[in-house]
Amino acid sequence: MMARPLWRPLAVALALVAVAALPAVSAQQRSKSKKERTSPLGYEDTPYLPDQPWRVHDLKRPRPPLIRPGVRPGEPPSDAVVLFDGKDLSGWYQRGKGPERGKTFEARWKVRDGYVEVVGGTGDLVSKDKFGDAQYHIEWAAPPRIEGSGQWRGNSGILIMERYEIQVLDNWENPTYADGMAGAIYGQFPPLVNPARRPGQWQVFDIVFEAPRFEGDKLIKPAYVTLFLNGVLVHHRQAIIGRMAHRRVGTYAPHGAEESLALQDHDTAVRYRNIWVRRLKGYDQQ
Ligand code: MG
Repeated sequence: MMARPLWRPLAVALALVAVAALPAVSAQQRSKSKKERTSPLGYEDTPYLPDQPWRVHDLKRPRPPLIRPGVRPGEPPSDAVVLFDGKDLSGWYQRGKGPERGKTFEARWKVRDGYVEVVGGTGDLVSKDKFGDAQYHIEWAAPPRIEGSGQWRGNSGILIMERYEIQVLDNWENPTYADGMAGAIYGQFPPLVNPARRPGQWQVFDIVFEAPRFEGDKLIKPAYVTLFLNGVLVHHRQAIIGRMAHRRVGTYAPHGAEESLALQDHDTAVRYRNIWVRRLKGYDQQ
């Protein structure tokens, strides 16, 4: 005979205790017709939550701001800053590279058919708005025509705060170092898995970024990043080691609380569309 599982009588006993502990008001509500049932707007006699100024179900706790979500997944919610909606680059400028280093220009990447394409040699595309703690939604596609290999195939990058790079690369049957693959924190951490699609297909980054904090010259909290690539978790609140670097370990240097988002010109014709950002606040902030 099989041993009787111990958890069953225990669960029944716990459920009975829980029902008995329900406030009398709830028993009254349950005796009413479903249409007549109501519940209190909150409570003023419940215990305080640990390390919070609020009671359990606190009547005075502010309700979160109401926002309108996108109609379909991936569409910007009403509190997002839309940086690129497929039509124009008015929210961006270009940072010169090579002989033009140090200069800035009007945005020079090509917009067509609802996307923008990197024009190699023109420099990184930089957002006019700046962001600190933020949620980013960015869609990208590697060039449909395969040229080059390794880091020369469909390379671009999401340079958060113009420094911390989430790698964009054509990973499709294209071996390269793990911490340089699509979705890598470049030169630091590979994605946990590789859910990248073929070149030419649209791919989605959903990023939650916590900006680093400095006191004077001193780093007091590193940046953290959570990243979903094509809906798959590839970084889970991973601390970033420092700014993006090639063949060395990146380090931190103090910068503003908010900085621009930049898209990298690595001289391959990567495409971007549907780019939006939400500034993040903590709980109970209106
Ligand atoms: Mg890159």
